[in-house]
Amino acid sequence: MRRRNPRRSYDEHGREIAPPTVGSARAEGETTVSARCYDCGHSAIVSTDHFPADLPIPDIELRLRCSACQGKRIGVMKDMQAYYARLTAETGWKMEIKPWLKLDPEA
Ligand SMILES: [Zn+2]
Repeated sequence: MRRRNPRRSYDEHGREIAPPTVGSARAEGETTVSARCYDCGHSAIVSTDHFPADLPIPDIELRLRCSACQGKRIGVMKDMQAYYARLTAETGWKMEIKPWLKLDPEA
């Protein structure tokens, strides 16, 4: 089997699934990504404005450096806060935020 790119998805036949690009995400209204440093845990919302439209979203992480520790092991994912804000603006739907269950050590 050919070596797989860790920043790509594959179908059941091992064929690469075309990733979203900066341009295709922009067409959906996405202009930011959420980035997290694997070395120190620092996270940030990063604008995609500076990246070329044909750049695959997962490859943005190759171009980032952590502003806290200068690390280069960065993970990028969809900016869910911006996504939910757009969803609320478009449909009126609001995510219901529930508190974590409190685990009582005495119980
Ligand atoms: Zn860092």
